[in-house]
Amino acid sequence: MPQARLDVKLLNSSPNALSLIYAAFRQCYSPGFVGEMWPRLLRGEVSLEKQAALITEVLASGHTSPVEHVSYTFAIQGVSRSLTHQLVRHRLASYSQQSQRYVDESGFEYILPPAIERIPKAREKFVRLMDLIQEAYQDLQKTLKSNGRTREEANEDARFILPNAAESKIVATMNCRSLLNFFELRCCERAQWEIRELAWKMLEMVREDLPVIFASAGPKCERLGYCPEGEKFTCGKYPLKD
Ligand SMILES: Cc1cc2nc3c(=O)[nH]c(=O)nc-3n(C[C@H](O)[C@H](O)[C@H](O)COP(=O)(O)OP(=O)(O)OC[C@H]3O[C@@H](n4cnc5c(N)ncnc54)[C@H](O)[C@@H]3O)c2cc1C
Repeated sequence: MPQARLDVKLLNSSPNALSLIYAAFRQCYSPGFVGEMWPRLLRGEVSLEKQAALITEVLASGHTSPVEHVSYTFAIQGVSRSLTHQLVRHRLASYSQQSQRYVDESGFEYILPPAIERIPKAREKFVRLMDLIQEAYQDLQKTLKSNGRTREEANEDARFILPNAAESKIVATMNCRSLLNFFELRCCERAQWEIRELAWKMLEMVREDLPVIFASAGPKCERLGYCPEGEKFTCGKYPLKD
């Protein structure tokens, strides 16, 4: 049974992202109609530098809602159900996750935490348990089917024994504001290692695409200039608030 590795692909993003945010900001502060300005923006009549400068200035004042008009869609695989459960807690997003009813998990892959992988005894125990679960899952599927359950019904009950480590695939769409919040929480050293790794990879992708918004994104200490986590949890990169 193979071990899976994190893989993230950026599937899509709002076209003309910078101009879209600029247009939304301009609509807030100008008497004219941004619908008429839009073709001029697309023709490049306002330089991207000028658009970026206005966005940076207004964002610094705390007016952030215009960045909600730009969204990113990621395809994510090689992550555990434990990760996806944390991910979907971010409510300001849209998700489509691989089903454990419609997809047969009899050959499920799993995520092996690096700390367990480094200790041979722990690794061996972990892998053995995964093999046992796979065997039990297949047995249950067979038993359920031979007792009149359909393939999907058998899957939906056999999956109850799958572990948090079971690999999953998910498509996630978030707008820039939600992403900034996601990065603040999940790029932090305090976040769990797997979702932190995912968050940093997503940040690299969007930062390359839209540096005006994401150049300084990351854990919340980067914005605050101090660590809000308290003495017990701080990683020490920034001083505590007190
Ligand atoms: C280090 C860490 C440890 C965690 N531990 C636990 C844990 O032990 N148990 C647990 O259950 N969760 C835990 N969480 C999850 C956490 O509580 C959040 O549910 C998760 O991070 C999603 O964040 P969010 O609500 O900001 O995001 P979103 O759901 O995307 O919401 C974005 C923002 O919208 C606003 N918002 C959204 N919904 C509401 C609402 N109903 N009412 C008011 N404002 C709203 C808030 O300002 C929120 O920040 C943990 C998260 C982290 C980072």
